[in-house]
Amino acid sequence: QSRDLHYSGSAANALRHDIAGKASSDVLAYLDDQRLFRQLAYCNGKWVNGDSDTPVLNPATGEVLGYTASLNATQINQTIDDAEAAFHLWRAESAETRAKLLMKWHDLIMENQHDLAHLMVLEQGKTLRDAEGEVEYGASFIHWFAEEAKRVYGDTMPSHIPNAHLATLREPIGVAALITPWNFPNAMITRKAAAALAIGCSVIVKPAEETPFSALALAELAERAGIPAGVFNVVMGDAPMVSTQLCQSDNVKALSFTGSTRVGRLLLEQSAQTVKKSAMELGGNAPFIVLPDMDIQQAARAAIDAKFQTSGQDCLAANKILVPRDKHQAFVDAFAALMDELEVGNGLLPSTDIGPLISARAVDKAQAIVDDAIAKGATVMGGKLNPNLGENFFAPTLITKVTPDMLVYQEENFCPVAGVIAYDNLDEAIAMGNDTEYGLSAYVYGNDIRDIWRCLRGLEVGMVSVNSVKMTGHPIPFGGVKQSGLGREGSRYGIDEFSEIKYYCLGGL
Ligand code: NAD
Repeated sequence: QSRDLHYSGSAANALRHDIAGKASSDVLAYLDDQRLFRQLAYCNGKWVNGDSDTPVLNPATGEVLGYTASLNATQINQTIDDAEAAFHLWRAESAETRAKLLMKWHDLIMENQHDLAHLMVLEQGKTLRDAEGEVEYGASFIHWFAEEAKRVYGDTMPSHIPNAHLATLREPIGVAALITPWNFPNAMITRKAAAALAIGCSVIVKPAEETPFSALALAELAERAGIPAGVFNVVMGDAPMVSTQLCQSDNVKALSFTGSTRVGRLLLEQSAQTVKKSAMELGGNAPFIVLPDMDIQQAARAAIDAKFQTSGQDCLAANKILVPRDKHQAFVDAFAALMDELEVGNGLLPSTDIGPLISARAVDKAQAIVDDAIAKGATVMGGKLNPNLGENFFAPTLITKVTPDMLVYQEENFCPVAGVIAYDNLDEAIAMGNDTEYGLSAYVYGNDIRDIWRCLRGLEVGMVSVNSVKMTGHPIPFGGVKQSGLGREGSRYGIDEFSEIKYYCLGGL
């Protein structure tokens, strides 16, 4: 190999500068040598060409990185049939065997962490630091579920029938379709696939068209790990067509989707005819409540972290920052000062805090949120932005004097725009936090345990993080209420989405 991306320390920094200054084609050529830059679909253990090719762009530069194979409906249906055949073999393996193969997959992902992170930066735009973190986070689900595979238990019940034994088995549901978004191109796949594979399901992944390469690199490593043909598949093609085939197939028994609430509703409708077990990880509009006794500098630091990770394109991103009225100005000053330190740039540069948005459309949406707020009387402060960066970059932005009729209050912003709102009492703050169709997550910062408890009980969300920006991780049940979704991922509950309880009665004993 002419280049080596497995580096550490100062060599790492030198290489990061080196890559940032060069065309991404150099990095891709290296990844191609490593067989981690795959462009064909991966179906039933084979790399498959499609009818046509779809370009994938680098959001930081607009360059075409490569082309993915767009499969047709016949190919999707063949993949479903093959996954169904593979399911029966995979479920028959011992839990120990499945666990060992998953562990091997985990180890290969971590051995290739830096390479996978570079690939992710090129197609997604996030910073290399965040991408490395995501690869590790994604791998942690595989490690977790490799262990869970060996501990999937049923129950026995005292019998209400004389001379009978009552018990349950937990069985894998069958082929699972996993449809995933572009903001976390690795972890949104592994969080689902690891649970499904652990219990004995086979999976068909349909990654977002913006970020297929991270998914295909996972397939390459699954193959190297020895996961059998047909058990882990990655398909691509026209999203509505592929999703329709998956949702309407009788052979696909579970659907696990992460993405927007709009598309989640569509997929639920499409799956209704086949009554599929469905898990939905949808949008969020997270409140960030600063309690009256909280140190303002610390609160502002945490709010910056909760808002701007992945350029704000995170379902957990703090959307509405609620601050006691008498501390509002101090908070705004502290937040604006910290925001001013953030560097927007190419994610491969070590100095970058905020990478590009995924597309020009995402930039238009961010601008529309800001314009709407200005038109309705808000005050807007922008952070630094080098105008030469390119069309997908957006300055971190703070909006104050936010009112409930503004988009920044109502919608999942999904961009580096923060809205700060003053509140007069905690009931009002909780009510504003709940004033949304979403119910994914919330942040609470403060010390008074009674106030914290009121927030914990009062907030209509699936996850509350108190005095910590780090909301997620493999041991926790990730998921939302209201229109943020159905079901939970990670934790000991994650396997539930891919399994059924079978009850049996052995009578006449
Ligand atoms: P999206 O809903 O546009 O796309 C998600 C997936 O659905 C992609 O694979 C896409 O190809 C597919 N898709 C898009 N339109 C489709 C259609 N008409 N028919 C069938 N399939 C279609 O979402 P996105 O823009 O990729 O991701 C951003 C959204 O994901 C945000 O709303 C974010 O909150 C959500 N998200 C949620 C979580 C969570 O865990 N709750 C995590 C990450 C992202």
